[in-house]
Amino acid sequence: MRKTATKKGETCTIDLTKIDGDGAFPCPKCGATISPDDETEEVYTIVETRVKNDELTELKLKCNQCGTKIRLTGFLLRPPEETQT
Ligand SMILES: [Zn+2]
Repeated sequence: MRKTATKKGETCTIDLTKIDGDGAFPCPKCGATISPDDETEEVYTIVETRVKNDELTELKLKCNQCGTKIRLTGFLLRPPEETQT
């Protein structure tokens, strides 16, 4: 991914596979903690969900603090070891 000049309304991409812990992450712009478990929509609003084969592949959020759009990816990536028994 190439980074372009910062402008208002840009979309940041967060790769969930690179996040430690419970999936919460700070807004790239204002640092507000965005937690998937937070369903109050006080900190962020879900703009769009993308589903493929009944599985969530992508989530688009908007930070309510600064208005930055955040794209969440990496839902489907699981360690290959866990698919075998
Ligand atoms: Zn923000």
